[in-house]
Amino acid sequence: MEIDKKKCVGCGNCHVICTMGAIYLDKDGKSVVNQDECVECSTCYRVLRNERYMPWFVRAVRKVLSTFRLGYLADVDVCSTGALTPPDLQWPRRIRATFSDPTTIHPGTGVGGRGTEEIKSNDVTGRIRQGEAGVVVELGRPGIGAYFREIEKVAMTLAPLRPFFEPQNPVTQLMKDQETGAMKEEILDEKVLSAIIEMKIPLERIPAFLQAVEEVQKEIDTVISLGVSSRCRPDGTIPHEEWVRKAGHSLSPNGKTNIGLGRPFFQEN
Ligand code: SF4
Ligand code: SF4
Repeated sequence: MEIDKKKCVGCGNCHVICTMGAIYLDKDGKSVVNQDECVECSTCYRVLRNERYMPWFVRAVRKVLSTFRLGYLADVDVCSTGALTPPDLQWPRRIRATFSDPTTIHPGTGVGGRGTEEIKSNDVTGRIRQGEAGVVVELGRPGIGAYFREIEKVAMTLAPLRPFFEPQNPVTQLMKDQETGAMKEEILDEKVLSAIIEMKIPLERIPAFLQAVEEVQKEIDTVISLGVSSRCRPDGTIPHEEWVRKAGHSLSPNGKTNIGLGRPFFQEN
């Protein structure tokens, strides 16, 4: 995101809206966006209404009021002069928006947000079959984000354990080599709100993967969330539970259960 300094009146409304805390007041009293930290989520632009006031008018009113030690408290959901200006994003910077702006669609998967349906549609897609575990490693969150160089570090730690990286996932599609987990060089300095590395592995390799994530997270400068999934057995028990316990962890009470109302597009072997 860019701010047109000719229009900005330095009201600060966009500072609190920014998902990354990337907007600050410059020495000239106008706001500026830290372009390294901005993840192009467009939240500031979408949330703040443009009142379309002329900048000179807003500045004049503020100056007159300040003479009498008065202030004008604008509504918090406005950019009174429409100074926020979405740039024409080019590759590789535009992947910031495709991962961070929920209104954009990932071109490689046709899915918005982080660009993957994960396990949520497994009833229909059958991505994860009996005997397999789905593992998702999510890096970043609002307020901290994640650089692709950190996402690559995690992927390269897990790749030697021979996972099957999910092809309908935008992080997989940005890898230049799935054998090593290496990402395309030109995206390594790009930052996104969050991204998900998604893979499937045999159930019995869950402990090795969990241990590898525990080790690599010490070298990562963002937060990691880890999810494990599997298809329930006919008696309702959860196959991955014993392997997660063997790795020294317990299942989170926040687990999700897919109840199987979808029409499957696959046949279980
Ligand atoms: S909301 Fe608009 S006018 Fe106010 S500081 Fe931000 S860009 Fe400038
Ligand atoms: S696009 Fe997102 S990260 Fe960038 S300045 Fe706006 S709210 Fe902040």
